[in-house]
Amino acid sequence: MIIKPRIRGFVCVTAHPVGCAAHVQEQIDYVKAQSSNEGGPKKVLIIGASTGYGLSSRIVSAFGFQAGTIGVFFERPANNGKTASAGWYNSIAFENEAHADGLYAKSINGDAFSDEIKNQTIDLIKKDMGKVDLIIYSLASPRRTDPKTGDVYKMALKPIGQSLHDKMLDTDKKMVMEDSIESATEKEITDTINIMGGEDWDLWLDALESADVLEEGVTTVAYSYIGPKVTWPIYKNGTIGMAKEDLEKTAAKIDAKLDKYGGRAFISINKGVVTQSSSAIPVVPLYFSLLFKVMKEKGIHEGCIEQIQRLFTTKLYNGAVPELDEAGRIRIDDLEMRPDVQDAVAELWPRVTTENLEEISDFSGHQQEFLKLFGFGLPGTDYESDVNPEIVFDS
Ligand code: NAD
Repeated sequence: MIIKPRIRGFVCVTAHPVGCAAHVQEQIDYVKAQSSNEGGPKKVLIIGASTGYGLSSRIVSAFGFQAGTIGVFFERPANNGKTASAGWYNSIAFENEAHADGLYAKSINGDAFSDEIKNQTIDLIKKDMGKVDLIIYSLASPRRTDPKTGDVYKMALKPIGQSLHDKMLDTDKKMVMEDSIESATEKEITDTINIMGGEDWDLWLDALESADVLEEGVTTVAYSYIGPKVTWPIYKNGTIGMAKEDLEKTAAKIDAKLDKYGGRAFISINKGVVTQSSSAIPVVPLYFSLLFKVMKEKGIHEGCIEQIQRLFTTKLYNGAVPELDEAGRIRIDDLEMRPDVQDAVAELWPRVTTENLEEISDFSGHQQEFLKLFGFGLPGTDYESDVNPEIVFDS
Protein backbone atom coordinates (compact mmCIF):
# COMPACT_ATOMS: atom_id res chain seq x y z
CA MET A 1 0.00 0.00 0.00
CA ILE A 2 1.25 3.50 -0.82
CA ILE A 3 0.35 5.77 2.08
CA LYS A 4 -0.17 9.51 1.74
CA PRO A 5 -1.27 12.02 4.38
CA ARG A 6 -5.04 12.55 4.52
CA ILE A 7 -5.70 15.55 6.71
CA ARG A 8 -9.14 16.26 8.16
CA GLY A 9 -9.14 19.49 10.14
CA PHE A 10 -6.57 19.16 12.91
CA VAL A 11 -5.97 15.41 12.48
CA CYS A 12 -4.33 13.25 9.86
CA VAL A 13 -6.35 10.06 9.43
CA THR A 14 -3.48 8.07 7.90
CA ALA A 15 -0.05 7.26 9.32
CA HIS A 16 3.08 5.87 7.70
CA PRO A 17 4.74 2.91 9.50
CA VAL A 18 8.22 3.48 8.07
CA GLY A 19 8.02 7.26 8.62
CA CYS A 20 6.80 6.80 12.20
CA ALA A 21 9.74 4.45 12.85
CA ALA A 22 12.10 7.08 11.40
CA HIS A 23 10.53 9.73 13.68
CA VAL A 24 11.05 7.50 16.74
CA GLN A 25 14.62 6.77 15.58
CA GLU A 26 15.36 10.52 15.34
CA GLN A 27 14.42 10.84 19.00
CA ILE A 28 16.42 7.75 20.02
CA ASP A 29 19.48 9.07 18.14
CA TYR A 30 19.14 12.45 19.87
CA VAL A 31 19.10 10.82 23.31
CA LYS A 32 21.99 8.48 22.53
CA ALA A 33 24.09 11.43 21.35
CA GLN A 34 23.82 13.17 24.75
CA SER A 35 26.30 12.48 27.55
CA SER A 36 25.68 9.46 29.77
CA ASN A 37 23.67 9.71 32.95
CA GLU A 38 24.20 8.86 36.59
CA GLY A 39 21.60 6.87 38.53
CA GLY A 40 18.08 7.41 37.35
CA PRO A 41 14.96 5.31 36.95
CA LYS A 42 15.22 1.62 36.22
CA LYS A 43 11.60 0.40 36.08
CA VAL A 44 9.28 2.91 34.50
CA LEU A 45 5.54 2.96 33.84
CA ILE A 46 4.44 5.52 31.25
CA ILE A 47 0.70 6.16 30.98
CA GLY A 48 0.10 7.79 27.58
CA ALA A 49 3.34 6.39 26.12
CA SER A 50 2.74 6.29 22.36
CA THR A 51 2.99 9.89 21.13
CA GLY A 52 4.07 13.38 22.24
CA TYR A 53 5.51 13.91 25.71
CA GLY A 54 4.76 10.35 26.89
CA LEU A 55 6.65 8.75 23.99
CA SER A 56 9.64 11.04 24.61
CA SER A 57 9.53 10.12 28.31
CA ARG A 58 9.67 6.45 27.34
CA ILE A 59 12.57 7.06 24.96
CA VAL A 60 14.61 9.06 27.51
CA SER A 61 13.93 6.43 30.22
CA ALA A 62 15.05 3.59 27.97
CA PHE A 63 17.87 5.02 25.88
CA GLY A 64 19.11 7.68 28.31
CA PHE A 65 18.91 5.59 31.49
CA GLN A 66 18.68 1.96 30.25
CA ALA A 67 15.38 1.57 32.10
CA GLY A 68 12.83 -1.15 31.47
CA THR A 69 9.53 0.39 30.41
CA ILE A 70 5.88 -0.54 30.37
CA GLY A 71 3.89 1.76 28.09
CA VAL A 72 0.11 2.16 28.30
CA PHE A 73 -1.77 3.85 25.46
CA PHE A 74 -4.95 3.74 23.40
CA GLU A 75 -4.11 3.23 19.72
CA ARG A 76 -5.72 1.72 16.65
CA PRO A 77 -4.16 -1.19 14.73
CA ALA A 78 -4.53 -1.28 10.94
CA ASN A 79 -7.84 -2.65 9.77
CA ASN A 80 -9.66 -3.16 6.49
CA GLY A 81 -7.28 -1.14 4.34
CA LYS A 82 -7.01 1.67 6.92
CA THR A 83 -3.60 2.38 8.38
CA ALA A 84 -2.96 2.04 12.10
CA SER A 85 -2.71 5.21 14.20
CA ALA A 86 0.70 6.85 14.51
CA GLY A 87 1.03 5.82 18.17
CA TRP A 88 0.63 2.16 17.20
CA TYR A 89 3.49 2.39 14.70
CA ASN A 90 5.60 4.52 17.09
CA SER A 91 5.26 1.96 19.87
CA ILE A 92 6.19 -0.99 17.66
CA ALA A 93 9.26 0.92 16.46
CA PHE A 94 10.18 1.84 20.04
CA GLU A 95 9.85 -1.75 21.28
CA ASN A 96 11.89 -3.13 18.37
CA GLU A 97 14.77 -0.72 19.09
CA ALA A 98 14.58 -1.26 22.86
CA HIS A 99 14.70 -5.04 22.42
CA ALA A 100 17.61 -4.72 19.97
CA ASP A 101 19.48 -2.87 22.74
CA GLY A 102 18.62 -5.58 25.28
CA LEU A 103 16.12 -3.40 27.16
CA TYR A 104 12.86 -4.62 28.67
CA ALA A 105 9.85 -3.02 26.93
CA LYS A 106 6.23 -4.13 26.86
CA SER A 107 3.08 -2.27 25.96
CA ILE A 108 -0.59 -2.39 26.93
CA ASN A 109 -3.10 -1.01 24.44
CA GLY A 110 -6.44 -0.05 26.00
CA ASP A 111 -8.38 2.50 28.01
CA ALA A 112 -6.11 3.70 30.83
CA PHE A 113 -9.14 5.19 32.61
CA SER A 114 -10.62 1.70 33.10
CA ASP A 115 -10.07 -0.61 36.10
CA GLU A 116 -9.40 -3.44 33.65
CA ILE A 117 -6.33 -1.79 32.11
CA LYS A 118 -5.04 -0.71 35.53
CA ASN A 119 -5.31 -4.33 36.73
CA GLN A 120 -3.69 -5.69 33.55
CA THR A 121 -0.81 -3.22 34.00
CA ILE A 122 -0.33 -4.18 37.64
CA ASP A 123 -0.28 -7.89 36.75
CA LEU A 124 2.43 -7.20 34.17
CA ILE A 125 4.48 -5.13 36.65
CA LYS A 126 4.24 -7.92 39.25
CA LYS A 127 5.19 -10.59 36.74
CA ASP A 128 8.08 -8.82 35.01
CA MET A 129 9.33 -5.91 37.13
CA GLY A 130 8.21 -6.51 40.70
CA LYS A 131 7.91 -2.78 41.40
CA VAL A 132 8.15 0.53 39.53
CA ASP A 133 10.32 3.50 40.53
CA LEU A 134 8.93 6.11 38.09
CA ILE A 135 5.39 6.70 36.85
CA ILE A 136 4.89 9.25 34.09
CA TYR A 137 1.29 10.37 33.64
CA SER A 138 0.95 11.85 30.13
CA LEU A 139 -2.61 11.17 29.01
CA ALA A 140 -4.45 13.55 26.72
CA SER A 141 -7.88 12.35 25.74
CA PRO A 142 -11.09 13.87 24.39
CA ARG A 143 -13.29 11.61 26.55
CA ARG A 144 -13.33 9.40 29.63
CA THR A 145 -15.70 6.74 30.87
CA ASP A 146 -15.94 6.97 34.65
CA PRO A 147 -14.93 3.54 35.98
CA LYS A 148 -17.36 3.80 38.91
CA THR A 149 -20.50 5.27 37.35
CA GLY A 150 -20.08 4.44 33.66
CA ASP A 151 -20.76 8.13 32.84
CA VAL A 152 -19.00 9.36 29.71
CA TYR A 153 -17.33 12.76 30.02
CA LYS A 154 -16.61 14.80 26.89
CA MET A 155 -13.85 17.35 26.71
CA ALA A 156 -14.66 20.95 25.71
CA LEU A 157 -11.81 23.33 24.92
CA LYS A 158 -13.61 26.56 25.76
CA PRO A 159 -13.23 29.84 27.64
CA ILE A 160 -15.05 30.32 30.93
CA GLY A 161 -17.35 33.19 31.89
CA GLN A 162 -17.32 34.97 28.55
CA SER A 163 -17.01 34.04 24.91
CA LEU A 164 -13.67 34.47 23.18
CA HIS A 165 -13.19 36.45 20.01
CA ASP A 166 -9.63 36.28 18.71
CA LYS A 167 -7.30 35.49 15.84
CA MET A 168 -7.09 31.85 14.93
CA LEU A 169 -5.34 29.84 12.28
CA ASP A 170 -7.11 27.52 9.88
CA THR A 171 -4.13 25.24 9.24
CA ASP A 172 -5.93 23.43 6.39
CA LYS A 173 -6.70 26.59 4.44
CA LYS A 174 -3.58 28.41 5.64
CA MET A 175 -5.69 31.37 6.72
CA VAL A 176 -5.55 33.69 9.71
CA MET A 177 -9.05 34.72 10.69
CA GLU A 178 -11.07 36.19 13.52
CA ASP A 179 -13.36 33.65 15.13
CA SER A 180 -15.48 33.28 18.25
CA ILE A 181 -15.84 30.47 20.76
CA GLU A 182 -18.75 30.55 23.18
CA SER A 183 -18.10 30.14 26.88
CA ALA A 184 -18.34 26.72 28.47
CA THR A 185 -21.37 25.43 30.32
CA GLU A 186 -21.00 24.15 33.90
CA LYS A 187 -21.21 20.58 32.59
CA GLU A 188 -18.48 21.20 30.02
CA ILE A 189 -16.24 22.57 32.79
CA THR A 190 -16.78 19.60 35.12
CA ASP A 191 -16.50 17.09 32.27
CA THR A 192 -13.15 18.53 31.20
CA ILE A 193 -11.91 18.45 34.81
CA ASN A 194 -13.09 14.83 35.10
CA ILE A 195 -11.00 13.90 32.04
CA MET A 196 -7.83 15.99 32.27
CA GLY A 197 -7.82 16.76 36.02
CA GLY A 198 -6.10 14.64 38.64
CA GLU A 199 -8.72 12.02 39.54
CA ASP A 200 -7.41 9.30 37.24
CA TRP A 201 -3.75 9.96 38.15
CA ASP A 202 -4.74 9.52 41.81
CA LEU A 203 -6.67 6.31 41.01
CA TRP A 204 -3.57 4.93 39.27
CA LEU A 205 -1.36 5.69 42.27
CA ASP A 206 -3.91 4.18 44.68
CA ALA A 207 -4.14 1.03 42.56
CA LEU A 208 -0.33 0.72 42.36
CA GLU A 209 -0.01 1.27 46.10
CA SER A 210 -2.71 -1.29 46.99
CA ALA A 211 -0.94 -3.83 44.80
CA ASP A 212 2.35 -3.07 46.59
CA VAL A 213 4.23 -2.33 43.37
CA LEU A 214 5.70 1.06 44.34
CA GLU A 215 9.48 1.07 44.91
CA GLU A 216 11.11 2.96 47.81
CA GLY A 217 11.84 6.51 46.61
CA VAL A 218 9.25 6.27 43.81
CA THR A 219 8.67 9.38 41.68
CA THR A 220 5.60 10.30 39.68
CA VAL A 221 5.31 13.21 37.25
CA ALA A 222 2.33 14.66 35.34
CA TYR A 223 2.66 17.30 32.65
CA SER A 224 1.00 20.69 32.40
CA TYR A 225 1.17 23.95 30.48
CA ILE A 226 0.78 27.63 31.33
CA GLY A 227 1.82 29.68 28.28
CA PRO A 228 1.55 33.44 27.75
CA LYS A 229 -1.44 35.77 28.23
CA VAL A 230 -2.51 35.56 24.59
CA THR A 231 -3.50 31.92 25.15
CA TRP A 232 -4.96 32.32 28.66
CA PRO A 233 -8.66 32.82 27.71
CA ILE A 234 -8.64 29.43 25.96
CA TYR A 235 -5.97 27.68 28.03
CA LYS A 236 -5.02 28.76 31.56
CA ASN A 237 -8.35 30.47 32.34
CA GLY A 238 -10.43 28.10 30.22
CA THR A 239 -11.83 24.61 30.82
CA ILE A 240 -8.46 22.89 30.27
CA GLY A 241 -6.80 25.32 32.71
CA MET A 242 -9.35 24.36 35.37
CA ALA A 243 -8.49 20.72 34.76
CA LYS A 244 -4.77 21.50 35.10
CA GLU A 245 -5.46 23.34 38.37
CA ASP A 246 -7.13 20.15 39.62
CA LEU A 247 -4.12 18.12 38.41
CA GLU A 248 -1.80 20.40 40.41
CA LYS A 249 -3.88 19.97 43.58
CA THR A 250 -3.72 16.21 43.03
CA ALA A 251 0.08 16.37 42.83
CA ALA A 252 0.17 17.73 46.40
CA LYS A 253 -2.21 14.99 47.55
CA ILE A 254 -0.19 12.20 45.90
CA ASP A 255 3.07 13.72 47.16
CA ALA A 256 1.78 13.40 50.74
CA LYS A 257 0.71 9.79 50.12
CA LEU A 258 4.17 8.91 48.78
CA ASP A 259 5.87 10.17 51.94
CA LYS A 260 5.96 6.66 53.37
CA TYR A 261 8.07 5.55 50.39
CA GLY A 262 10.31 8.61 50.59
CA GLY A 263 8.75 9.32 47.19
CA ARG A 264 7.63 12.46 45.36
CA ALA A 265 4.88 13.60 42.98
CA PHE A 266 5.66 16.47 40.63
CA ILE A 267 3.96 18.63 38.06
CA SER A 268 6.28 19.61 35.25
CA ILE A 269 5.23 22.67 33.27
CA ASN A 270 6.39 21.90 29.75
CA LYS A 271 6.84 24.04 26.68
CA GLY A 272 4.23 24.26 23.92
CA VAL A 273 4.96 21.65 21.22
CA VAL A 274 3.05 20.32 18.21
CA THR A 275 1.27 17.11 19.20
CA GLN A 276 -2.01 15.54 18.20
CA SER A 277 -3.61 17.04 21.31
CA SER A 278 -2.22 20.56 21.12
CA SER A 279 -3.25 20.81 17.45
CA ALA A 280 -6.89 20.61 18.57
CA ILE A 281 -6.72 23.69 20.83
CA PRO A 282 -8.03 26.88 19.17
CA VAL A 283 -5.61 29.90 19.07
CA VAL A 284 -2.66 27.63 19.95
CA PRO A 285 -1.44 26.70 16.40
CA LEU A 286 -1.14 30.41 15.50
CA TYR A 287 0.70 31.18 18.73
CA PHE A 288 3.01 28.17 18.17
CA SER A 289 3.78 29.27 14.59
CA LEU A 290 4.91 32.68 15.87
CA LEU A 291 6.69 31.19 18.88
CA PHE A 292 8.67 28.70 16.79
CA LYS A 293 9.81 31.48 14.46
CA VAL A 294 11.16 33.49 17.41
CA MET A 295 12.70 30.51 19.22
CA LYS A 296 14.36 29.17 16.07
CA GLU A 297 15.83 32.61 15.31
CA LYS A 298 17.27 32.68 18.82
CA GLY A 299 18.56 29.10 18.47
CA ILE A 300 16.53 27.84 21.45
CA HIS A 301 13.72 25.87 19.78
CA GLU A 302 12.89 22.57 21.50
CA GLY A 303 10.53 19.69 20.76
CA CYS A 304 9.26 16.93 23.07
CA ILE A 305 12.53 14.99 23.16
CA GLU A 306 14.76 17.98 24.02
CA GLN A 307 12.30 19.00 26.75
CA ILE A 308 12.10 15.57 28.36
CA GLN A 309 15.85 15.01 28.08
CA ARG A 310 16.28 18.26 30.02
CA LEU A 311 13.61 17.29 32.55
CA PHE A 312 15.19 13.92 33.34
CA THR A 313 18.83 14.91 33.25
CA THR A 314 18.76 18.36 34.89
CA LYS A 315 15.68 18.31 37.11
CA LEU A 316 14.86 14.75 38.21
CA TYR A 317 18.03 12.65 38.04
CA ASN A 318 21.83 12.91 37.73
CA GLY A 319 21.87 13.99 41.37
CA ALA A 320 19.64 17.00 40.63
CA VAL A 321 17.32 18.33 43.33
CA PRO A 322 14.48 19.89 41.36
CA GLU A 323 14.17 23.60 41.77
CA LEU A 324 10.45 24.38 42.10
CA ASP A 325 8.55 27.58 41.31
CA GLU A 326 6.42 29.49 43.83
CA ALA A 327 3.57 27.02 43.28
CA GLY A 328 5.82 23.97 43.77
CA ARG A 329 6.11 23.01 40.08
CA ILE A 330 9.10 22.01 37.94
CA ARG A 331 9.52 24.47 35.05
CA ILE A 332 10.98 23.39 31.73
CA ASP A 333 9.03 26.07 29.88
CA ASP A 334 11.73 28.56 30.91
CA LEU A 335 12.95 29.24 27.36
CA GLU A 336 9.44 29.71 25.96
CA MET A 337 8.56 32.10 28.77
CA ARG A 338 11.78 34.17 28.55
CA PRO A 339 10.74 37.85 28.41
CA ASP A 340 12.65 38.49 25.17
CA VAL A 341 10.85 35.56 23.50
CA GLN A 342 7.42 36.60 24.72
CA ASP A 343 8.00 40.28 23.85
CA ALA A 344 8.90 39.26 20.29
CA VAL A 345 5.78 37.07 19.97
CA ALA A 346 3.58 39.83 21.44
CA GLU A 347 4.95 42.23 18.83
CA LEU A 348 4.12 39.81 15.99
CA TRP A 349 0.66 38.77 17.23
CA PRO A 350 -1.34 41.88 16.20
CA ARG A 351 0.50 42.06 12.84
CA VAL A 352 0.03 38.48 11.62
CA THR A 353 -2.37 38.03 8.68
CA THR A 354 -3.01 35.39 6.02
CA GLU A 355 -0.80 37.40 3.64
CA ASN A 356 2.28 37.63 5.88
CA LEU A 357 1.82 34.27 7.67
CA GLU A 358 4.73 32.55 5.87
CA GLU A 359 7.00 35.54 6.31
CA ILE A 360 6.56 36.48 9.97
CA SER A 361 5.65 33.08 11.42
CA ASP A 362 7.09 29.58 11.14
CA PHE A 363 3.86 28.18 9.68
CA SER A 364 5.75 25.83 7.37
CA GLY A 365 7.87 24.52 10.27
CA HIS A 366 4.69 24.04 12.30
CA GLN A 367 3.11 22.06 9.44
CA GLN A 368 6.24 19.97 8.95
CA GLU A 369 6.20 19.04 12.64
CA PHE A 370 2.48 18.23 12.37
CA LEU A 371 3.04 15.87 9.41
CA LYS A 372 5.98 14.22 11.17
CA LEU A 373 3.62 13.22 14.01
CA PHE A 374 2.02 10.86 11.48
CA GLY A 375 5.29 9.72 9.90
CA PHE A 376 5.25 12.01 6.86
CA GLY A 377 8.09 14.22 5.61
CA LEU A 378 10.87 12.24 7.28
CA PRO A 379 14.15 12.53 5.38
CA GLY A 380 15.26 9.20 3.93
CA THR A 381 11.77 7.65 3.94
CA ASP A 382 10.55 6.56 0.52
CA TYR A 383 6.91 7.54 0.34
CA GLU A 384 6.43 6.12 -3.15
CA SER A 385 7.19 2.54 -2.07
CA ASP A 386 4.63 -0.07 -1.21
CA VAL A 387 4.54 -0.66 2.57
CA ASN A 388 2.67 -3.14 4.74
CA PRO A 389 0.39 -1.14 7.08
CA GLU A 390 -0.57 -4.21 9.12
CA ILE A 391 2.45 -4.52 11.38
CA VAL A 392 2.04 -5.91 14.89
CA PHE A 393 3.96 -6.12 18.16
CA ASP A 394 6.49 -8.95 18.60
CA SER A 395 5.75 -9.50 22.28
P1 NAD B 1 -0.55 13.32 22.79
O1 NAD B 1 -1.88 13.43 22.15
O2 NAD B 1 0.65 13.32 21.91
O3 NAD B 1 -0.47 11.97 23.67
C1 NAD B 1 -1.56 11.46 24.38
C2 NAD B 1 -1.28 10.04 24.84
O4 NAD B 1 -2.40 9.61 25.64
C3 NAD B 1 -1.13 9.02 23.71
O5 NAD B 1 -0.16 8.06 24.07
C4 NAD B 1 -2.51 8.32 23.69
O6 NAD B 1 -2.51 6.99 23.19
C5 NAD B 1 -2.81 8.33 25.18
N1 NAD B 1 -4.24 8.17 25.48
C6 NAD B 1 -5.26 8.98 25.17
N2 NAD B 1 -6.42 8.49 25.67
C7 NAD B 1 -6.10 7.34 26.31
C8 NAD B 1 -6.84 6.37 27.04
N3 NAD B 1 -8.16 6.48 27.23
N4 NAD B 1 -6.18 5.30 27.54
C9 NAD B 1 -4.83 5.14 27.34
N5 NAD B 1 -4.07 6.05 26.69
C10 NAD B 1 -4.71 7.13 26.17
O7 NAD B 1 -0.52 14.45 23.89
P2 NAD B 1 0.64 15.39 24.51
O8 NAD B 1 0.51 16.74 23.90
O9 NAD B 1 1.95 14.71 24.55
O10 NAD B 1 0.07 15.55 25.99
C11 NAD B 1 0.52 14.78 27.09
C12 NAD B 1 0.46 15.64 28.35
O11 NAD B 1 1.38 16.74 28.19
C13 NAD B 1 -0.93 16.26 28.60
O12 NAD B 1 -1.17 16.29 29.98
C14 NAD B 1 -0.75 17.68 28.08
O13 NAD B 1 -1.65 18.59 28.67
C15 NAD B 1 0.69 17.94 28.50
N6 NAD B 1 1.35 19.09 27.81
C16 NAD B 1 1.30 19.19 26.45
C17 NAD B 1 1.88 20.31 25.85
C18 NAD B 1 1.84 20.50 24.35
O14 NAD B 1 2.13 21.61 23.88
N7 NAD B 1 1.52 19.47 23.58
C19 NAD B 1 2.55 21.27 26.63
C20 NAD B 1 2.63 21.11 28.00
C21 NAD B 1 2.01 20.00 28.59
